[in-house]
Amino acid sequence: MLFQDADFQKLLLLHSRDRRCQKLHLEVKELPQEVARMEEKIAVEKKSVELALAEWKGLESQNNSLEKEILSMNDLVNKQRNRQLEVKKNEEYQALENEIVNLLSKIEERENEQIEILLKIDGARETAEVAQGKISQRVAEMEKQRDERRDQGEEKKSELIDLEKEIEETRKEVEPSFLSTYDRVATIVSRPPYMAPISDQKCSGCHLRVSNDVVSSVLVEKKITQCDQCGRIVYVER
Ligand SMILES: [Zn+2]
Repeated sequence: MLFQDADFQKLLLLHSRDRRCQKLHLEVKELPQEVARMEEKIAVEKKSVELALAEWKGLESQNNSLEKEILSMNDLVNKQRNRQLEVKKNEEYQALENEIVNLLSKIEERENEQIEILLKIDGARETAEVAQGKISQRVAEMEKQRDERRDQGEEKKSELIDLEKEIEETRKEVEPSFLSTYDRVATIVSRPPYMAPISDQKCSGCHLRVSNDVVSSVLVEKKITQCDQCGRIVYVER
């Protein structure tokens, strides 16, 4: 049985290290994009807090300018009323009266606008406070996750360096004819695994039924057998 063979076990070891190495390569390669996606999400959350605050502050400043406008119109009304006491001519008095009526109606308009804005301010303040509280907390959590991802990435990079050294060493220990078959299979097979156990007469790499010749070769002969469907090195785990 080839599976029990020490040389074959070394080949299996090489295979599992190669697969781990490919997986790590992929993870390390994808990491910057993953971190970038996290950064994007963080930016969106931060932006929503900024927008909520800007909305609230904008309404506050609208309210302040309305307040000033109303105050100055009220001042003007008082001033014109005092002037009415001083004028002699009836038409001058009437002109001031018209101006006062106009001002009072404008003041009423502005006061109505102000009431609407004050109502909006209540809602906007609440939204901004929720945003600052909950979202800031979420942002902090997301930033923590992002930093952890980065740290994991660094760990994976150094694991990869160690693993590549180990693979180099393992390759030296694998029987040369096994190694050349393995390397050839790795170039033919479109994706890993390159070695697959057979179960129920099916290759677990391509999930297709292998021929009886393949099964008997795997069970009897002490040489490497390939799946007659996909070309992977096949074996039986016993
Ligand atoms: Zn196969």
